[in-house]
Amino acid sequence: MDETLPSALPEPAAERKFDELSLSPALRAALQHLGYQTMTPIQAASLPIALAGHDLIAQAKTGSGKTAAFALALLTNLNPRWFAVQAMVLCPTRELADQVTQEIRRLARFEDNIKVLALCGGSTLRPQMASLEHGAHIVVGTPGRIMDHLERGSLQLAALNTLVLDEADRMLDMGFYDDIVHVARQCPRSRQTLLFSATYPEGIDKLARQFLRNPQEVKLLERHARSTIRQRFYEVKHEERLQAVGILLKHYRPVSTLAFCNTKAQCRDLAELLRSQGFAALTLNGDMEQRERDQVLVQFANRSCSVLVATDVAARGLDIAQLEAVINVDMTPDPEVHIHRIGRTGRAGEDGWALSLCSPGDRRRIGAIAQAIGSDPEWHTLGSLQGDDQTPLVPPMVTLQMLGGRKEKIRPGDVLGALTGEAGGGHRFTREEVGKITVTDWSTYIAVARELADAALKKLTAGGVKGKPVKVRALD
Ligand code: ADP
Ligand code: MG
Repeated sequence: MDETLPSALPEPAAERKFDELSLSPALRAALQHLGYQTMTPIQAASLPIALAGHDLIAQAKTGSGKTAAFALALLTNLNPRWFAVQAMVLCPTRELADQVTQEIRRLARFEDNIKVLALCGGSTLRPQMASLEHGAHIVVGTPGRIMDHLERGSLQLAALNTLVLDEADRMLDMGFYDDIVHVARQCPRSRQTLLFSATYPEGIDKLARQFLRNPQEVKLLERHARSTIRQRFYEVKHEERLQAVGILLKHYRPVSTLAFCNTKAQCRDLAELLRSQGFAALTLNGDMEQRERDQVLVQFANRSCSVLVATDVAARGLDIAQLEAVINVDMTPDPEVHIHRIGRTGRAGEDGWALSLCSPGDRRRIGAIAQAIGSDPEWHTLGSLQGDDQTPLVPPMVTLQMLGGRKEKIRPGDVLGALTGEAGGGHRFTREEVGKITVTDWSTYIAVARELADAALKKLTAGGVKGKPVKVRALD
C-alpha cells in the first residue's frame, strides 16, 4: 500500500480569509489580483502576530507562502511618502532574493510607487549604489552584499522599521551567522524583526536570542497534508547505487526529478552517468558561476531537463512548482532533512514519488525516518523493475537561449510577440505552444514544445525580436 505522511496538526477547521486582517485597500487589491483568496496556514498563524508589531519566529515548510506573510507585514509598516530604506530582507542566495523581490513588488503593485531593490553578489556594485542614491523603500539582499554597502556607506539603515531574516536555516548552513549578527547590529534598536525558516536547527535559537525581542513562535509541523507523497525504499548494494537511478527513471518516467546526493563528487558522477545513458540531467553546485546556475534552474523549472542532481545545500529553497519525483540517491542521516527533501514533490494536490536507495548500512537511518513519519517503510526490489519499457525518457520541452536580456530591455512579451507574429515566416505559434520565458540580465530563455523547437529557432533567427536580429541556440 502507498503511504501518505500523517500531518502533525489537524487540518484547519475553516479556511481563513485575508479580510479578517486589517490590511490597506491597496494590499487587498493586490491579493485579489494575485488570486490569493484564503490565507495559507502559516499566513493565518503568523500575520496577526506580525501585523500587531511583535517580533516573530515562524517555521513552515518550503512552498507554504512565507514570503507573503512577511511581505504584507513590512508593507503595512511602510510609509511610501518617506524616501528611505524602511525594511530589509536578508536571504541566503540571489535566486531567493530575486523571488522575494518579485513577490514584494507584486504585493505592492497598487501602492504608490514603492521601490524595492535587490542587493546581491554576482552583480556589479556601481549600479546598485546608483539605485540606492535614487532612494529605495525596501532592500532585499544577501548578507555579504548588504555588508559591502554598509561599509561603503551607500546603504543607510537609520529609518529601518522592519528586519526580516528569510530562510534563516539556510543562511546558517551557508555560514552567514556572523554576517547576520553584524548587519543586525547596524539596524535601529527599535524595530520589528521577523525570522522565517523551513526547518528549526539549533542555531536558530541562538540567532534569535541575539537580536529578537520577546519573539512569538509559530511552528507548523503540518507536513504535506493535502497531497500524496508515495514513498518507496529500494535496497541496493553500495556499488549499484548510481546505476539504480536510471532504472527508477525508466520505470516511473517522471517528467521532473530532483535527485539528492550527499557530496558534490557523487552529484557530478551521477549526472555524467545519466547523460551517458541518454537522460537530460544537470547538476547544481556551489562552485558554479551565477549565470550557469541560472541556466540550470531555468532548464529544470521549464521542463526541458528531466533530472536535477544536487546536494541539500545546493537545492534548498528552490521553489519548483511541478516535481513528479524525488530520489534519495544517498540517504540523509537526518529525518528532518529527509522529510524536507521529499516534501518538494507532491505539491499543490498532485501526487509525487519519493524513492530512496538504501544500502544495508542505511538500515538504521531508515528506522529513524520511519519513526519520524510514523509509518513502516515500504520495501521494493530493483529486480522487479528490470525489463521495463526501455524507450528513452525525453523532456517535453526544449530551452532556446537568446542573447540579450534585461540590459537590452527585452521583455517576455517581446519574444512571445515574435513567435506568435508574422515576421520570420513559417509556423505562427499560439500562446499555448510557448512555455516559460525567462529574462535574465544578459540572456532570455524560451521554453518551447520539443517538436516545435526547430520551427521556433528558425522563426526567431529569420524574424528577430522587436525588429532587431537575434542570436538564438537550443540548449542541450
Ligand atoms: P515559502 O517561502 O514558504 O517557500 P512562497 O512564499 O515562495 O513559499 O510561496 C509558495 C507559492 O505559494 C508561491 O507561488 C506563492 O505565489 C503562492 N502563495 C502564497 N500565498 C498564497 C495564498 N494565500 N494563496 C495562494 N497562493 C499563495
Ligand atoms: Mg521562502
